[in-house]
Amino acid sequence: MSTIFDKILEGDIPCHKVYEDEHVLAFLDIGPLALGHTLVIPKERKAYLHELSDEAAAALGRVLPRIARAVMEVTGCDQYNILQNNGPRAHQAVFHVHFHVIPKPNESSGLGIRWPSASLDGGAGEELASKLRDAIG
Ligand code: AMP
Repeated sequence: MSTIFDKILEGDIPCHKVYEDEHVLAFLDIGPLALGHTLVIPKERKAYLHELSDEAAAALGRVLPRIARAVMEVTGCDQYNILQNNGPRAHQAVFHVHFHVIPKPNESSGLGIRWPSASLDGGAGEELASKLRDAIG
């Protein structure tokens, strides 16, 4: 399924580009939560992070810190969030993988987070970690 980010990648609709290489495009979010809110996307057309090839994932990992440094330098903001949503319940609206780089200049702008933490039980935690280790392989 084609998304608005495909149209940006194809040059059919404009964006405020901040970075591009063989695997990655970064551009300003059209609805910024704070000045400098930037989206970093793979050129690979996948909806969710877990679908990405190792090559696309590595390319994203390589450039994210560089883009974060540029956003910090240009906005003068020394704190920020990296957000990456997968699925509509997880707040994803555009089904092409994207990382948000969102400056957090003060309490009232940038990303707001609800963090309803529970407490990890030691025994159940070890069982779960073991299953995850097996799943990762
Ligand atoms: P998400 O909820 O993680 O899927 O976020 C999608 C983001 O894409 C939102 O922050 C939108 O403001 C942003 N967005 C949607 N269309 C465009 C566009 N044409 N150019 C730049 N950002 C866009």
